[in-house]
Amino acid sequence: MTAFRKNYDLLIVGGGLAGSVLARAIALEGFKVLVIEKETKFKDRVRGEVLLPWGTVEAKELGIYDILLASCAKEAAREHFFYSGKASEPRDFRTTTPKCTCVLSFHHPEMQEVLLNHAAQAGAEVWRGAILAELRIGLMPEAEIIYDGQTTTVSARLVVGADGRESQIATLLGLARTIDPTELFTGGLQLTGDIEIEHALYFFLDAITGRGSILIQNKPGNFRAYLLHHKDALPRRLSGERDLTAVMKHFAEIGIPKAWLERLTPHGIFATFDGAHRWITNPTRGNCVLIGDAASASDPVWGNGLSRTLRDVRILRDWLLKLKDWSRAADAYAADHDYFFQRLRRAERLNATLHFSMGERAESRRQRAYALMDNNQELNPDVAGLGPEARCSDYVINTLLGE
Ligand SMILES: Cc1cc2nc3c(=O)[nH]c(=O)nc-3n(C[C@H](O)[C@H](O)[C@H](O)COP(=O)(O)OP(=O)(O)OC[C@H]3O[C@@H](n4cnc5c(N)ncnc54)[C@H](O)[C@@H]3O)c2cc1C
Repeated sequence: MTAFRKNYDLLIVGGGLAGSVLARAIALEGFKVLVIEKETKFKDRVRGEVLLPWGTVEAKELGIYDILLASCAKEAAREHFFYSGKASEPRDFRTTTPKCTCVLSFHHPEMQEVLLNHAAQAGAEVWRGAILAELRIGLMPEAEIIYDGQTTTVSARLVVGADGRESQIATLLGLARTIDPTELFTGGLQLTGDIEIEHALYFFLDAITGRGSILIQNKPGNFRAYLLHHKDALPRRLSGERDLTAVMKHFAEIGIPKAWLERLTPHGIFATFDGAHRWITNPTRGNCVLIGDAASASDPVWGNGLSRTLRDVRILRDWLLKLKDWSRAADAYAADHDYFFQRLRRAERLNATLHFSMGERAESRRQRAYALMDNNQELNPDVAGLGPEARCSDYVINTLLGE
């Protein structure tokens, strides 16, 4: 092996949503950016395929909304909510969200390919199949990267860890992660088949049994379905082919119409994830900084991860473009990130207690809260529409969860 040396302004580890969108944004401003991505081809890992209305605001700010729409994504203007199998009046996101935005759905691996290609088109260098062997923090951090049979020493003004939930960068930096107790789980699978339904977000809740489901078309002839459940709702975490029959049974019991399920066939991988919030407070050290799932993960049940990731990218981009000193920019980003993540966590935890608590007592509290929200929108947290700016004051929490 030969040793090479290269310098960049920004080294980004991970070419998922976080890494590729940041790379594109910073390269467009004329900076020298390198992205290293371990996968040579993206495949399904059961990740987010629903970008909520507050996240589409971030996508527009970052200039990727039209790119997604022109390639792999489709807008879903409405949400259909079914409670114990009974449909309520659909919500039109465009008339009920602050910036009149809606949901965007896509197949996650296709989205990754599109955005990483756009990062390259914007001038970022992209190394696929690259392995990070070593990281040395400091004024000008250095990384040893194995790529194309060679080891290259890369130095950069700032290293960004955009390497997902199991972040290697977080480990190398020795940054400790706090994890909430487990409350909800999300299992995801794909369904193939053609059902003639509106392209919309479908949310089914059978709250008394602590189970729910989300269904959305992620590409023509294909749907993403999530099985959501309280930790006490199922005796064990479902996964793999052996559990597909059980999952389809849960979907029917939760209220997905039987006529739809009969025409949909599960395929690909099925895996269940613990939704406990996990985060690193002040996710920066020695001119290295974490964004996206590497910095913090919200509960997939509420579908805020992609939106939260894009907000991280937007905040970091803005600080990097504003301040010449990127060490200070990383600190400023970290403070903003911590603030909005904790707001989002608080709102999601309220949602979890309100919508997924099991049993008769929780059910009567829920019915009372739903009636209050129907009469007064100011009591509706509306996490899908507002994200971290959800209505979640002590007053809202106490009013909704009061017995
Ligand atoms: C079951 C489930 C369902 C979800 N559903 C939704 C949803 O409906 N809506 C929503 O908004 N969010 C959802 N999310 C969350 C969302 O998928 C994530 O928040 C989002 O993908 C985070 O993007 P990221 O770029 O930070 O990380 P990732 O998507 O994990 O990307 C990280 C990238 O880094 C690469 N990488 C990792 N390690 C290295 C390394 N050492 N060197 C080089 N490359 C590396 C990986 O290959 C990957 O490409 C869900 C999550 C789960 C688990």
